[in-house]
Amino acid sequence: MRLDDFGQSSNVRNRRGEGGSRMGSGGAGLMFVLIRMVMSRFGIGGLVVLGIGFFALQAIGINPLSSGGGTQRASAPQTSQYDQLVGAVLLSTENVFTEVFREEGIGDYPEPVLNLFAGRVTTRGCGSATSAVGPFYCPADSQVYIDTSFFDELGQRFGAPGDFAQAYVIAHEVGHHIQNVTGISDQVRRQQASARSEADRNEYSVRLELMADCLAGVWAGRTQIQLDPGDIREALGAAAAIGDDTLQRRSGGRVVPDSFTHGTSEQRQRWFTTGYRARDISACDTLGTDQL
Ligand SMILES: [Zn+2]
Repeated sequence: MRLDDFGQSSNVRNRRGEGGSRMGSGGAGLMFVLIRMVMSRFGIGGLVVLGIGFFALQAIGINPLSSGGGTQRASAPQTSQYDQLVGAVLLSTENVFTEVFREEGIGDYPEPVLNLFAGRVTTRGCGSATSAVGPFYCPADSQVYIDTSFFDELGQRFGAPGDFAQAYVIAHEVGHHIQNVTGISDQVRRQQASARSEADRNEYSVRLELMADCLAGVWAGRTQIQLDPGDIREALGAAAAIGDDTLQRRSGGRVVPDSFTHGTSEQRQRWFTTGYRARDISACDTLGTDQL
């Protein structure tokens, strides 16, 4: 991918460094100790003085609870080598799907926020999560969450290196956003709720995942980012590497199709390719087809 003169999305939030509790609970804990100390020595009168002092400090712009001890800490958020790629790919998905939504008469494309985190993140709608779950989309807050160390893992552990492998992962999560804002995820959840067996419920999940792969393919087919030879192969490599059959084989288990929730490597590659060639989301009807 040639990213040099491609812009950056304004919807990326760098939330690395929020995982710790240096300021929040640390400051509150200190405050609690202080209150107890003042109460025991000076009674309620002392507490009132402490309270006045607290608000006086805040009034002149100093936060007594911050561990910086008065001045606002000039914290530079952690960045990574992947941040430019994430911003560019997200911007490109915004351009592509704004266009697609208009063409299809769906309306305005509501751009998702993409959160970068390190280690652990508290989402607005899906509780807290660690990097162990991998990149994910939270339908309740319509946001994407990615710990970019997953991209290292993708290259090293799953054998799928390359910038376009990473781009595919981002576009796949955006695919889940599209399913959410168009009501497809809700529809599938209702069907799952009335499904007779675990295998049937799983099949619905597989169909959703393969649709997200296909939507990622549509993006790849339409992106204005200049691709390099081999980029599509990188995306296909990632799709194969994180297919359920491959993951299960790697983890030492037998391959049991009924427990698949993402689709096999072959299916994931095929649906990505379908979207890539068609450049049209109507090609991504994984819910209506007999042939997954
Ligand atoms: Zn997915």
